[in-house]
Amino acid sequence: MSNVIDLAKDLISRASVTPLDEGCQPLMADHLSKIGFNIESMVFHDTTNLWARRGTEAPVFCFAGHTDVVPTGDLSRWHTPPFDPTIIDGYLHGRGAADMKGSLAAMIVATERFVAKHPNHKGSIAYLITSDEEGPFINGTPKVIETLEARNEKITWALVGEPSSTHKLGDVVKNGRRGSLTGNLTVKGIQGHVAYPHLADNPIHKASPALAELAQMHWDNGNEFFPPTSFQIANINGGTGASNVIPGDLKVMFNFRYSTEVTAEELIQRVLSLLDAHGLDYDIDWVFNGLPFLTGDGPLLEATKQSIREVTGYDTDPQTSGGTSDGRFIAPTGAQVIELGPVNATIHKINECVSTADLELLTLCYERILEKLLCD
Ligand SMILES: [Zn+2]
Repeated sequence: MSNVIDLAKDLISRASVTPLDEGCQPLMADHLSKIGFNIESMVFHDTTNLWARRGTEAPVFCFAGHTDVVPTGDLSRWHTPPFDPTIIDGYLHGRGAADMKGSLAAMIVATERFVAKHPNHKGSIAYLITSDEEGPFINGTPKVIETLEARNEKITWALVGEPSSTHKLGDVVKNGRRGSLTGNLTVKGIQGHVAYPHLADNPIHKASPALAELAQMHWDNGNEFFPPTSFQIANINGGTGASNVIPGDLKVMFNFRYSTEVTAEELIQRVLSLLDAHGLDYDIDWVFNGLPFLTGDGPLLEATKQSIREVTGYDTDPQTSGGTSDGRFIAPTGAQVIELGPVNATIHKINECVSTADLELLTLCYERILEKLLCD
């Protein structure tokens, strides 16, 4: 049986700056194959992915995560070398300690303990591990999911080890994420001399009332899990720099963070009809950055809540705030997805660290969740 701190140290000592894996996945695979996992390495271009599975039956419980880490930043500002894991006052320091090699170690140890106690558990346990979560996320989780879907291999429940906690271990889990939609709008006018406005057509004047209306628009009320959808103009650009020229066009980039109360198609329709109602001549391109997803009440959320309460003595708070994660690629297959990992206060920062006591608690939480879902 492995020790979670030793295993976390072993992983941190491998300088797997995205999209490198540096032997992290083989190390994990080595542990998993010893307890009956079937191992598949899926390499797509520069990215190494691990798909491991113990059992052939449904339901499939999947630990998901990434072995890559973000660059260290200025080495002289680190108190300890980032790839030389060091424990100081109960905190394990090193790049990836919290995001998310500590979680990977906790998953492995929880699985080893669970399998030792319940060798004939029901369903299957799986691992979906990538080395490009911190990068462009093209050849990682999306490609593995594509491969699994093509052979109709389904994940029932996915537990992503992203550092979800805010102040103490498990105080927050993520049970969904907002969708993200970007619009690139060009409003067309006619360039001319400001002294002869009747010969020109000013796109800034024409677009301003429409933009003001968009900025004040009420899109939805959100729901129990999501705040109301928000619209923000991120960039606006028009004019030649000269004071005597009416510009020929106006470029506006805006972004929606949207709840599950609306779809991207509905948002697009509402924007287009508003622009049309203002009589604008325009082009618009849309960029779909990720669909919203929500894991509502069900076996995975229930098992996670109960396990955290049993291990820590307090209740967790399911939230959908924050940036995106690879959960957004797993959820569209119909899987329930929850993120549970350590405190995220130092992630991506200089002197990233994680509480060693929290890694022990996280291991217990993961083991309990396995027991609640895969034992009768
Ligand atoms: Zn991460």
